[in-house]
Amino acid sequence: MEIFECDVLIIGAGGAGLSSAIFAKEAGADVCVLTKEYPTRSQTCMAQGGINAAFSNVSEDSVDAHIANTLKSAHGQADEEAVRFMCSEAKEAVEWLDSIGVCFSRTQDGKIAQRRLGGASAPRACYAQDYTGLKILHTLYDKALALGIEMRAEKYLLELLKGKDGEIAAALILDIRSGKKELYKAKSIILATGGYSRIYDTNSTNSTASTADGIAAAARAGADLVDMEFVQFHPTSLKNSSILIGESARGEGGYLLNSKGERFCDELAPRDEVSRAINAEIEKGEEVFLDIRHLGERFIDENLPQERKLAKLYENIDPVYDLIPIKPAAHYTMGGVKVDNNSQTNIKGLFACGECANHRVHGANRLGGNALLEIVVFGKEAGKAAATYAKNNHLPSPHIKHSFYDSVAKCSNEIDFYQKQRELGELLYKNVGIVRTHEQMQEALCILEKMQEDLPKMGVLDSSEVYNTNMIEFLSFANMLEVAQKVIESALARESSCGAHYIKE
Ligand SMILES: Cc1cc2nc3c(=O)[nH]c(=O)nc-3n(C[C@H](O)[C@H](O)[C@H](O)COP(=O)(O)OP(=O)(O)OC[C@H]3O[C@@H](n4cnc5c(N)ncnc54)[C@H](O)[C@@H]3O)c2cc1C
Repeated sequence: MEIFECDVLIIGAGGAGLSSAIFAKEAGADVCVLTKEYPTRSQTCMAQGGINAAFSNVSEDSVDAHIANTLKSAHGQADEEAVRFMCSEAKEAVEWLDSIGVCFSRTQDGKIAQRRLGGASAPRACYAQDYTGLKILHTLYDKALALGIEMRAEKYLLELLKGKDGEIAAALILDIRSGKKELYKAKSIILATGGYSRIYDTNSTNSTASTADGIAAAARAGADLVDMEFVQFHPTSLKNSSILIGESARGEGGYLLNSKGERFCDELAPRDEVSRAINAEIEKGEEVFLDIRHLGERFIDENLPQERKLAKLYENIDPVYDLIPIKPAAHYTMGGVKVDNNSQTNIKGLFACGECANHRVHGANRLGGNALLEIVVFGKEAGKAAATYAKNNHLPSPHIKHSFYDSVAKCSNEIDFYQKQRELGELLYKNVGIVRTHEQMQEALCILEKMQEDLPKMGVLDSSEVYNTNMIEFLSFANMLEVAQKVIESALARESSCGAHYIKE
């Protein structure tokens, strides 16, 4: 097995991974970033609406208001100190992004443009049309390349390995192109592998890469997970494809209508409330639509060009003239690997940031625009902390352990795991969705336990080594199954409703 060494190893090249890489490198560490995709394709590039910072560029706003809105939306489940830190760092974070080249949209007097998103008391989300995440990700990538950060694509994390004192020591990686295992030894590791919304399969706005691999590997290595039951359902995904129509559409004045043409809720209430209101309409037999026709073609093309393209491409309708059929879909996972304010997990030397981590800033319901903020603010902190840790510690020797990958060849192929993945998504959407009951969750857990038992009968059909996507998809399914069980166990442990975890009485 080939062995590589570095000071700080970062797994994941989304906004969180790249931010942490830049700050770890600037702190003097020898950094290597691995991703199972290509850095420019990470999920961060799908973010549309914006990144929050209380600049008051459009109307009066304050850091205190940002903190208050974030805490209210979190339903008492966020840590006030962490929220205060994130919101206070927001202006500096956005100014830094602006300084390295993110092309934010501008007001007429040249300031960064801002729009209001749900649950915010002022226009606070700084945006680049509705391509905010794409512009941020690609600029971070440019910056990382300019700093000479080593970036390796198509490397799939299998396991996190520890040293003799229980500290993090290495990552076991599958090179997708060759099918060979590789060992990356590092003094510290930052996990930045994104969230787990794809456990809901196609009932999710996320890319097919959000399969919870990092969270599952961290849990297998002994990392604590927290708040896994808090899954945010975004109110407005396209009805047939679950592609997101961003909150920017409602932020710019879009309405929600039922089949009778009636508005039925405050469109800019926090997402958990709007999603439940839409769900209630759908349960009454209504269809639900987003209406932005009154904004006019010129405004839509200037401010919401991506939303128009997506609606045309995936729903075959033009929002300039037509109502947009929508439904809520799993969008963001507040739960994840438990970290302290320095992004340190309970495993020494293992840090986590971004959607795979839980910095206790979103609580039971994330505010729109705060995820991009979190990946930059805590990406920076994780990068600095991991570099300092690496400076003060030696390269440990990893204890190589068995990986599920090693036994896959022995799995027979009696059951089609792609079919099981679809079933898993439907089951979770129905039983562990916007509204849940204890009976539904119990039933889902039993079905998942049976799937887990059957996993050895769901092997891959493709036995080739080179570029075996069938194998990668199977490994990802196994990770999702593991994490889905943790979501339900966590949900069953929380007796009463709270934010995105809403129990029907
Ligand atoms: C459609 C959409 C719109 C959004 N809009 C907004 C918005 O307007 N404002 C906002 O604040 N938030 C928004 N969000 C949320 C926000 O975009 C994400 O929470 C954030 O970008 C996550 O960044 P990340 O770096 O943590 O993870 P990601 O960007 O998901 O990156 C994860 C990285 O980990 C890698 N990886 C995963 N598994 C493995 C593995 N096994 N081995 C190796 N590498 C692996 C992936 O390849 C990827 O590089 C939106 C989300 C979606 C889906």
